Amino acid sequence: MEKKRITIAIDGHSSCGKSTMAKALAKRIGYAYIDTGAMYRAVTLYCLEHDMIKGDEVNKPRLRRHMSKIEITFKVNDEGKSETWLNGKNVEQEIRGMEVSSKVSLIAAIGFVRRAMVAQQQAMGRNKGIVMDGRDIGTVVFPDAELKVFVTASAQVRAERRYKELQSKGDTTTTFDEVLANVVERDRIDSSRKESPLRQADDALLLDNSHLSLDEQNEWLYNEYLSRIK
Ligand code: C5P
Repeated sequence: MEKKRITIAIDGHSSCGKSTMAKALAKRIGYAYIDTGAMYRAVTLYCLEHDMIKGDEVNKPRLRRHMSKIEITFKVNDEGKSETWLNGKNVEQEIRGMEVSSKVSLIAAIGFVRRAMVAQQQAMGRNKGIVMDGRDIGTVVFPDAELKVFVTASAQVRAERRYKELQSKGDTTTTFDEVLANVVERDRIDSSRKESPLRQADDALLLDNSHLSLDEQNEWLYNEYLSRIK
């Protein structure tokens, strides 16, 4: 008999390892994985490249006119990893850097940007069998998802993980304090914005992974998935 296919929504604070666990689960169970943060990051990169951001000000009328020209896709590379493409260019590395990280929450707070992204995300998940991570997946994108998880960890732990990740990718200029400040600031903007603020859905399971190993959190998530397809 065919296994039941469900929708899995993983939301939570910045740099809490959502995408690591979401990716691992998708691979294990043969589901598609969508990193929605990458989509907001790609829009942000587009804005930076087109000089639409001055300090904390975004040229919204101009961005609105450009929305239809921004095409974001995901392609699997030779190593089997999904990478983000913006208008035909691989931007996977660029969107993870501090320049984009420091502006992305401004862009993600704009209503027309969110509506465009959410419509694409809903289309990608139309046939279920998907693991999607972000900030509003369980609350806005897929409020009927069969499994919803809200992940968090202390800001210190999250910044340490992100800092290590940046260093392993060869970033030697960003300091730990900058990473910590960015994590805290993104949480603040994401949680207090008017449009789809970051919050735990009423029916989401809360997972604080401050003291869990990767294996422990992966097993926990896998077991939650198993209990939903019975
Ligand atoms: O997940 P990641 O940290 O890469 O997301 C980058 C930013 O994109 C977040 O800080 C948030 O501002 C925004 N975001 C969002 N809604 C989502 C995913 C990400 O607002 N579903």
